[in-house]
Amino acid sequence: MSALAKNYNRRKIAFSRGKGSFLYSSKGQKYLDFVQGIAVNSLGHANSYLTKAINKQSKKVWHVSNAFIIPEGEKLAQRLRQKTFADYVIFQNSGAEATELAIKAARRYFYKIGKPQKNRILCIKNSFHGRTLATIFASGSKKMTEGFEPKVPGFDHFNFGDHKALKKSITKKTAAIMVETAMGESGIKVIPDWCLRELRKLCNKKKILLILDEVQCGIGRSGKFFAFEYAKIKPDIVPIAKGIGGGFPIGAVLMNKKVAKGMTPGSHGSTFGGNPLAMSVGNAVLDQIFKKGFLTNVQKSSKYFMDELNDIKNEYPNIIKEVRGIGLLIGLQLHEDQNKFIKKLEDNKLLTMRAGENVVRILPPLNVKKNEIDIAIKIIRKVCNEMDSI
Ligand SMILES: *Cc1c(COP(=O)(O)O)cnc(C)c1O
Repeated sequence: MSALAKNYNRRKIAFSRGKGSFLYSSKGQKYLDFVQGIAVNSLGHANSYLTKAINKQSKKVWHVSNAFIIPEGEKLAQRLRQKTFADYVIFQNSGAEATELAIKAARRYFYKIGKPQKNRILCIKNSFHGRTLATIFASGSKKMTEGFEPKVPGFDHFNFGDHKALKKSITKKTAAIMVETAMGESGIKVIPDWCLRELRKLCNKKKILLILDEVQCGIGRSGKFFAFEYAKIKPDIVPIAKGIGGGFPIGAVLMNKKVAKGMTPGSHGSTFGGNPLAMSVGNAVLDQIFKKGFLTNVQKSSKYFMDELNDIKNEYPNIIKEVRGIGLLIGLQLHEDQNKFIKKLEDNKLLTMRAGENVVRILPPLNVKKNEIDIAIKIIRKVCNEMDSI
């Protein structure tokens, strides 16, 4: 019997290896993996370029303290600065750490400008920002916070799309609005561009900070490096993680100059965050994602995949309610509970993941091939047909 605690309801498959879009189970079965560690393996499994980079670095130096200069991290931060809104970067190890640091940075900024009373963060109810004590209370989800009280104070909530409530919830104590540019766990709900632009304007008007959580939708997943780029806006703080490490745990917070002023020596730290091994892999991931044509290709794959899924939706309108998402963060919203559907896809050797609102989450690697999308389409159509005839 497993010695692992039961905080996961694990599926009964183990994998012995992977290559690109595919995973091979310990029983010798081949699966098309459109989970990719939940948007983590952005370049697929056992990517030879990443393997080389990590092997090379592993022979030099794995870890040194942030008390010293880490050239690989300097380089990664510099590249993020060049390609994004960010002036400064702090490296972490995971998404929750990054979102939690985003909250800290927002509060610290107001503290530094002499307004420490401005410390509340306004979030979307039932969003997802991670599983630390602060971030579960940021999510405002009953399920995630149950049994973990006392409540961590400092968070207010409004419902997705309720603009009136959003405006009403901003008080003199509000420091920042924090939302996922495209909500992942809660059902692949994309904040429209016009809405992001209004959010930016609102934050400017109220002199508060805009935090866009791009832990899941960032690093090329949306078809742009960041999903908010479609709206042509600049946030103040952006936590990232998942895709930047290609499978190696990396988190980071990107921030503008004004926010970074608060992060003075001693204000924050991390033992592992930004170590040479992690940073080498992060640089290798960016080598690929910043290649000419890479993101255009993600957009092309997305359009092809979504068009095909919409065809299936039109063939089986009783099963599929909506195809939604951005880039290769795709959600298939079903009319009924999605667990049986996901199990059937798995029986047909296609791995997908659940999300809120009866959504089947589909997360191919960003370098997925057209013929691999075709395999997935065939399986999804087959399962719709089976479900339709029940
Ligand atoms: C996954 C996720 C997190 C948390 O990341 P962890 O690495 O699991 O801590 C935070 N925000 C969003 C939007 C995520 O999708």
